[in-house]
Amino acid sequence: MRKKLISNLTNKFPTKDITDDDIKYKIPLSTSKKNNIVRVNKKVIFSDKTFPVIVGPNGIESKKLLFECAKFYQSIGVNLFRVHTFKPLTFPYRSKQYNDTMFEGLNWIEELKKYYDFTYISEITEIQYLEKLSSVVDILQIGSRNMQNFELLRECAKTKKTIILKRHFGASLRDFLGAAEHILLQGNKNLILCERGIVAPHTHKDTSRFILDIPAIVALKEISNLPVISDPSHASFWASWVPPLAYASVSCGSNGLIIESHPRPSKSMVDPLQPLDFKNTKNLLNKIKKLAKFHGKKLI
Ligand code: PEP
Ligand code: MN
Repeated sequence: MRKKLISNLTNKFPTKDITDDDIKYKIPLSTSKKNNIVRVNKKVIFSDKTFPVIVGPNGIESKKLLFECAKFYQSIGVNLFRVHTFKPLTFPYRSKQYNDTMFEGLNWIEELKKYYDFTYISEITEIQYLEKLSSVVDILQIGSRNMQNFELLRECAKTKKTIILKRHFGASLRDFLGAAEHILLQGNKNLILCERGIVAPHTHKDTSRFILDIPAIVALKEISNLPVISDPSHASFWASWVPPLAYASVSCGSNGLIIESHPRPSKSMVDPLQPLDFKNTKNLLNKIKKLAKFHGKKLI
């Protein structure tokens, strides 16, 4: 009976691994041998010689927080500022203190841009926000939960903006590159992949919420031609674990980092255990600069 079922299947080798056939027919663009350097602007380049680090709070929360972060980040030489104003939250109920910043937050970012010359990254959660968001920020982040929202991927790709595509926490690398292919197929090569931790039977409260898939960074660098960055903050969930995972990411060949940072972590409206405070943000960047240099890369 089972034999019969298998012989009737047209897809004879269902697999999570990437096959030669996949490379030829399913993900030819994301695996092409041509090295893809992503140039966002004169200062910010994702390549094997540069190491951009994206820093910012989980969400921008308030105009005061946005300006406070900007002032500090500028003082320690940060170039890429994470300014998330649209946030996907796992549960639809928000605490009273949670402020849905959305379009109001975009106005704050526009005001901030008059005073600060950062490269701005913000998450796009729905197509209806795309036109406005892409007119304000430099890089669009597509979050893990939207990794296979193909319509969103296509519409973002059409803007020709730089895109950071995060891996879903349950996705194989095959599915991840399949999603990347949807963006590349629209003629947008300004694409960066981001490993942000996966779920596994051994992830739990006392260890970690997710496991940062370090081998996936190495594998993606081997298989694909795209820059691969790492988000140790979302992967670990614990602020004290972020620096060691960041160092591991640099040393395994990642092309950049996303670091969550907040002046008063315990007051962060989302995931208060996760962000580094300002002092630890500064210390981490100092160490990353040295480690990146050791690996022949310049911190941006
Ligand atoms: C985020 O960067 O704030 C975020 C929600 O990340 P992820 O999509 O990886 O969970
Ligand atoms: Mn988050």
